[in-house]
Amino acid sequence: MTTTIHDPVCGMTVNPQHSTISQLYKGQIYYFCSPLCKSMFEREPEKYVKSAEAESEQGKPMLLSGGGKTWQNKLMK
Ligand SMILES: [Zn+2]
Repeated sequence: MTTTIHDPVCGMTVNPQHSTISQLYKGQIYYFCSPLCKSMFEREPEKYVKSAEAESEQGKPMLLSGGGKTWQNKLMK
């Protein structure tokens, strides 16, 4: 399964399978499109973590689709 992650610095889509540029911060791994973005993140991580939290709302539809399976199961019965 392929997951794409947004570079918290520039907002570019990063494929973690193709990117080795990552940074662990407060228990969360962040991926970057370039060493430049990583160095910018290291300089002011909290600035970029805030915007990453806002983007994490995009993960909510995935949770909703998981609930959709439950609805299908109910319809099957
Ligand atoms: Zn970047």
